[in-house]
Amino acid sequence: MEATREMTNRKLIAGNWKMNGSLSANEVLLKALLQGAQPACDVAVCVPAPYLAQARGLLADSSFALGAQDVSAHPQGAFTGEQSAAMLQDFGVRYAIVGHSERRQYHGETDDAVAAKAAAALSKGITPIVCVGETLAERDAGRTEEVVKRQLAAVIHVNGHCISEIVVAYEPVWAIGTGKTATPEQAQAVHAVLRAQLHHAASQHAAGIKILYGGSMNASNAAELLFQPDIDGGLIGGASLKAPDFLQIIAAAR
Ligand code: PEP
Repeated sequence: MEATREMTNRKLIAGNWKMNGSLSANEVLLKALLQGAQPACDVAVCVPAPYLAQARGLLADSSFALGAQDVSAHPQGAFTGEQSAAMLQDFGVRYAIVGHSERRQYHGETDDAVAAKAAAALSKGITPIVCVGETLAERDAGRTEEVVKRQLAAVIHVNGHCISEIVVAYEPVWAIGTGKTATPEQAQAVHAVLRAQLHHAASQHAAGIKILYGGSMNASNAAELLFQPDIDGGLIGGASLKAPDFLQIIAAAR
């Protein structure tokens, strides 16, 4: 029997700290989050690589999961500056963001590279949070659906056999860090497209695959976004750096 979405989907709230933080600021932030959170959802924090060990220590014995912001597509070797999935696994990393628009834009990551990174994460039992999303020019040209489907198709093509293990994050590029949020209706419409695509690839598992929304989600708009039927959580940038804001988003996810 196909599981209903209510049965399978606990929401996931994941913070993406991007290139922010310091040893002292991280400690203050994580302690405040752990003290204030009574999550009815799954929570993850995706910290900069140098802080994985520190965050792992602070999150030990908590329900918060540790995440990374990227992972190498390669298992090891001459790839200066990269971190392999095995290295992340050594630090207890449970999630790795792949294909964030900032990586696609500033580091030229292609759909195929993102698919390979997702595969590398999955090979070590790390859940890839696969980001897809259109630019403003693509939205204005009526190409949103085509773009997000192309980005997700590359990941499905390479990882079809274990596609039910991924998390998808719909992050319209024009909404990231801009304070412009997709309306709940705009976001839901794209999430429904992605859900249908996942259904095609993984039929009975599609209902259980989490599709997060990301793009200026904050304490004020989280509840109405998270209320949408195909929005299973959030990937939060700026607001994840402020304990009271991130706590309110966590509280809205039930
Ligand atoms: C992100 O970086 O994934 C993101 C959604 O950022 P922000 O919440 O700041 O828009």
